[in-house]
Amino acid sequence: MRLPIQAVTPETESAEIVGWVHEVRDLGGLSFFLIRDRTGIIQVTIPKKKVTAEVLDVARNVSRESVIRVRGRVKAIEKAPGGRELVPEELEVISTAESPLPLDVAEKVPAEMDTRLDSRFLDARKPRVRAIFFIRSAVTSSATAFLASRGCINITTPKIVAAATEGGTELFPIAYFEKEAFLNQSPQLYKQMMMAAGFESVFELGPIFRAEEHNTVRHLNEATSLDVEVSFADHNDVMELLEDLIVHVYEYVRENCAGELAELGVDLKVPAKPFPRIPYAEAIEVANRTIEEKLTFGADLSPAAERAIGDTVGQHYFIVDWPTDIRPYYAMPYPDRPEFCKAFDMMHPRMELSSGAQRIHDHDLLVERIRAKGLSPESFEFYLKPFRYGMPPHAGWGLGIERLVMTMLDLGNIREAVLFPRDRHRLTP
Ligand code: ATP
Ligand code: MN
Repeated sequence: MRLPIQAVTPETESAEIVGWVHEVRDLGGLSFFLIRDRTGIIQVTIPKKKVTAEVLDVARNVSRESVIRVRGRVKAIEKAPGGRELVPEELEVISTAESPLPLDVAEKVPAEMDTRLDSRFLDARKPRVRAIFFIRSAVTSSATAFLASRGCINITTPKIVAAATEGGTELFPIAYFEKEAFLNQSPQLYKQMMMAAGFESVFELGPIFRAEEHNTVRHLNEATSLDVEVSFADHNDVMELLEDLIVHVYEYVRENCAGELAELGVDLKVPAKPFPRIPYAEAIEVANRTIEEKLTFGADLSPAAERAIGDTVGQHYFIVDWPTDIRPYYAMPYPDRPEFCKAFDMMHPRMELSSGAQRIHDHDLLVERIRAKGLSPESFEFYLKPFRYGMPPHAGWGLGIERLVMTMLDLGNIREAVLFPRDRHRLTP
């Protein structure tokens, strides 16, 4: 019976495994292979004089990264990985890998990001890379299970849309028969419409598309967003939901991905709740204490400002009470001081992870705000209509999954946290 490599222990008598040839070493009378599957690595030792001619013939010709099947006896041996080795009685090449390889999976030769991404299928064979995506899977599945446990309904909204969410130019136009259409930059308008449908709380895990020209280590042109919207909730309610979710996900990964965290050399610290709430005006002051290019009130936070504030706070935190002018039209102004609104950003010390707000649920105020942003309410009619037929108060947020994984695992580049990144220059594979 075929065993996962990890399940072969020094106590196992005989085993059959399949995997990829990680390394080949020939020491004259002995040759060694390391065979790798997604669970681990095992040494296969071939004493040339003691194996069959067929085994020897296959062993002579096998190339690195070929897929191979080995059946044989297991011997306890201290120096080998996992304290055991396999001596083959049968050896079969299932699929041959060409040489030379475009990429060294054993990582003896380091590769540039572009080289790695060009051969991502090979790059992802590396235990370190697999660990990132195993953890990403744990992040998304624990996050969505958490939201379901809080009564949120999992929805799917269209990615092909007729209008921009926030106006602006960061949209990819596409050809849609005889009409112009776009790839959606956010499910914002659709999740709000589901509040009018009485779903009360919804979430969506899906792609967002941003036609941003800049090429940075924390922007992608196709990213993954976890979006949440909750009725009869204000900004404070959904901030609590968000910090509960972050803490839950960190705890889940700590408990369920110990091997992967060790592979990555990450000692994961679960952030403490509650995350500090820092008003925008104070955040600007904190940043201006250290940064060169001082911010004036009403400016967006520069990356340098985000880092300066992050260094001061030293953990996840919220920036609250934003000037209404620099937030989207749907953010709810405070009734007693409408120049500020009930919007927030949730920050990791290194960068923004999430933006959210209590939304405007009053139709006329929303129209006024759309106009104030220089947009035309007519192009938002499909969105505005639900606000005329019983729209409950509501609030929500969008959380970038790649940035969550990137900051959790201290990765230097967001491209490490997505299998096939789309950026300014990359459209394949
Ligand atoms: P930034 O100012 O950092 O570019 P943003 O404020 O434009 O981000 P939002 O529109 O608020 O982004 O989107 C909500 C979240 O989605 C962000 O906090 C981030 O985690 C993620 N996100 C947005 N745009 C991108 C992108 N281009 N690449 C990766 N993640 C993104
Ligand atoms: Mn934002």
